[in-house]
Amino acid sequence: MKKMNDYKFWFVVGSQFLYGPEVLETVASRAQEMADTLNKSGKLPCEIVYKVTAKTPEEITNVVKEANYDDSCAGIITWMHTFSPSKMWLNGLKLLQKPYCHLATQYNKSIPNKEIDMDFMNLNQAAHGDREHGFIAARLRIPRKIIAGYWKDAKVQKRLGDWMRVCVGVAFSKELKVMRFDDNMRNVAVTEGDKVGVQEVLGWQVNTWPVGQLVEYIEDVSEDEVDEKIKEYKKAYKFNTKNMDAVRYQAKEEIAIKRMLDEEGCMAFTNTFEDLYGMEQLPGLASQRLMEQGYGYGGEGDWKVSAMTAIIKAMSEGQSGGSSFMEDYTYELDEKGQFSLGAHMLEVCPSIASKQPQIEVHPLGIGGKSDPARLVFEGRAGKAIVVTLVGMGGRLRMIVQDIEAVKPIYSMPNLPVARVMWKAMPDLATGVECWIMAGGAHHTTLTYDVSAEQMHDFARIMGIEFVHIDKDTTPEKLEKELFCNDLAYKLKAN
Ligand code: MN
Repeated sequence: MKKMNDYKFWFVVGSQFLYGPEVLETVASRAQEMADTLNKSGKLPCEIVYKVTAKTPEEITNVVKEANYDDSCAGIITWMHTFSPSKMWLNGLKLLQKPYCHLATQYNKSIPNKEIDMDFMNLNQAAHGDREHGFIAARLRIPRKIIAGYWKDAKVQKRLGDWMRVCVGVAFSKELKVMRFDDNMRNVAVTEGDKVGVQEVLGWQVNTWPVGQLVEYIEDVSEDEVDEKIKEYKKAYKFNTKNMDAVRYQAKEEIAIKRMLDEEGCMAFTNTFEDLYGMEQLPGLASQRLMEQGYGYGGEGDWKVSAMTAIIKAMSEGQSGGSSFMEDYTYELDEKGQFSLGAHMLEVCPSIASKQPQIEVHPLGIGGKSDPARLVFEGRAGKAIVVTLVGMGGRLRMIVQDIEAVKPIYSMPNLPVARVMWKAMPDLATGVECWIMAGGAHHTTLTYDVSAEQMHDFARIMGIEFVHIDKDTTPEKLEKELFCNDLAYKLKAN
């Protein structure tokens, strides 16, 4: 899979011949200067490549066709320094298959009060050109990101960078392969789904591999390889167990699962405690380690959350907050402070740990296997979101809730798993009512790095329903929104 900085974004500037060659030369040189300055800002995760100051329909159509077929191009950014009649854009935009951002900015920050004359107005008419450009995309119903503001402002650059990360997530999604070991947990509804439908919309190739093959791979791991892994563990974690056999078995599982994933080009996987046939332990530490390396994971066969976790990790490459597979477990309902406690049987990613995780070995209580080694830690405090994707029958709904993670209010010395405690927005009871009303799953991806705005951008590019539960959400408003969404998607389907 490509990394973040393997991707480029093409900067396409609109104009026309009306203004004469001098103005067009100035536009082109300023566009190059803007691309160079933005690239040097350190705010963008990928390079911007200035492509063309387009003056004809042919130039626009050609650059769109090239963008569609260039695998390293993750999106196009358009900007109208001057007025670019947008019927010239119509045919090209109809062919566009890459994410598209309309950067509504202008070269100069301020109006030069004394010097301003008609020459200045001819050259600097972004306000004019951006409206014409905005109309055609609205008329064609093309999903696009609109970012308005001065191009040197930190906030504008941050939003552009965040959107670029989303586009890398989109490119990653379209190539993503998910490896499933056995099926979903028996009788569970929300983790099921239409794999053909999801591949059509999001690109994921979700397929199954035998648990027996994984067992063979585990048995083939050499003791030397395990010794190397144990050295890595000793550097990264504290050992709070004497049961080295259990830890060594998890090392074998980590090596074996990674080997199978890499051989098949898969960046996400699932398993289920209901089928560990031939395995000694449920992979705990192993799954945690693989998530830390950027692989998606979903428990109980949940391939949707596994894929979303992998995508969110790809979007946030190089950021430090962390993202993990998560599950809503239990509530603190004391009126002085109400919280959700999230955890999983074992598999929470150490990228969200507040301090150095400890390796511990404890009985699992279900699955009937040996005591698995796992990393135990508390998640860090801070603003985050939880993301879920559910199949609504013929369409996908993404639900995002704003949360604020806190330091767990109890020490919980007998809880032998990694855990995070958070306040759900707008408050626990309303947040839970809204989440349940929308059909949100018990499995989510929790991320400190990726924002709700970014997940909204992802959903818009992919054409899936997006529901955001934030500080202003009320059950009444949400009920109406869901009702309208149902109608809209029914109309779309016909
Ligand atoms: Mn679960």
